[in-house]
Amino acid sequence: MVAIELDGIRKAFDDAVALEGVSLTVEGGEFFTLVGPSGCGKTTTLRTIAGLSGPTEGTVRFDGEDVSDVPVEDRNVGVVFQSYALFPHMTVAENVRYGLRFTDPPRGLTADERVDELLELVDLPEMGDREPDELSGGQQQRVALARALAPEPDVLLLDEPMSALDARLREQLRREIRRIQQELGVTTVYVTHDQEEALAVSDRLAVMHDGGVEQVGTPVEVYERPATEFVASFVGENNVFSGVVVGGESDELAIEVDERAPEGHRFRVAAPDDDAHAVGDRVTFCVRPTHLDPEAGRNRFPVALDTAEYLGGTTRLYGEWAGREVVLRLPEPPAADSLMVGFDPADATLL
Ligand code: ATP
Repeated sequence: MVAIELDGIRKAFDDAVALEGVSLTVEGGEFFTLVGPSGCGKTTTLRTIAGLSGPTEGTVRFDGEDVSDVPVEDRNVGVVFQSYALFPHMTVAENVRYGLRFTDPPRGLTADERVDELLELVDLPEMGDREPDELSGGQQQRVALARALAPEPDVLLLDEPMSALDARLREQLRREIRRIQQELGVTTVYVTHDQEEALAVSDRLAVMHDGGVEQVGTPVEVYERPATEFVASFVGENNVFSGVVVGGESDELAIEVDERAPEGHRFRVAAPDDDAHAVGDRVTFCVRPTHLDPEAGRNRFPVALDTAEYLGGTTRLYGEWAGREVVLRLPEPPAADSLMVGFDPADATLL
């Protein structure tokens, strides 16, 4: 199980800097996801790990060994891209066998035995004689996965492998990928722009923005304790407030937010144990829609409701308070067109 380390990676193209100061470590056997909006540098990071593209500055290490100048064919990585990229004129078995072009089959197996084993692993036994166009999109991606896994790579790299599939198939295939990854214990780096997918499948994830890493953590850490305003808004929905510390006791800050509402514009927010904020400091905090609660006794403010989206079991409500949008989640839409909500100081997160 190979660990991957990126140390101070910068990647400049002629007309753009794609990555700047990217440092992160992927532990051996981990399912690690790079998530972020289009253009933030996910694919460039993955290509740098693969050896498909060399960094302008910085070092890539596999198990502590500098592989920055090692070409892709010598890194023992398996890569699956967005498009299926199967050879249409080859059978499924021939496509999988192509994954063995640089190496002998592992464990003394013949190539045929290895292909059969892989088709079994991705749940496509008996499909070896088919041509790719006789398979569904999801099945084709499983063949691409089998091909990438053929040489028993140290590292599996997946670049939005499901972006061409419909939502239901994506969910099915991501569970399948997770099962296979756990069965093999292969260090895996997965690229997606879909934050929900990133939370669902990863041991840990890196949230990327504008060529840099905003936060690395487990799904729970990133969701519950976003480090930056970008992470707070990109990973799940959030209500982000900015303001000035005007007072507070040891474990709570009183914050006057920028919105100058006639009432309730001073909020109480729990201060972390290591908090060093003083009166006059500018701060930003966020409150999840699920934590804005009509029953909450503290931090109450009125929301003028605008639109409601029924999501099955829960309703997302958009509204307005003091000229800004507020997002709520309630089991059912209220009958009235305005609503008092509040939040517990402990449910607000200082960024
Ligand atoms: P997407 O989700 O859209 O694939 P991404 O997060 O994977 O985006 P990258 O493909 O890594 O982002 O691109 C990061 C930045 O680098 C973008 O601004 C992109 O235009 C630029 N870039 C990537 N490859 C090249 C290239 N070969 N030449 C010039 N600029 C490039």
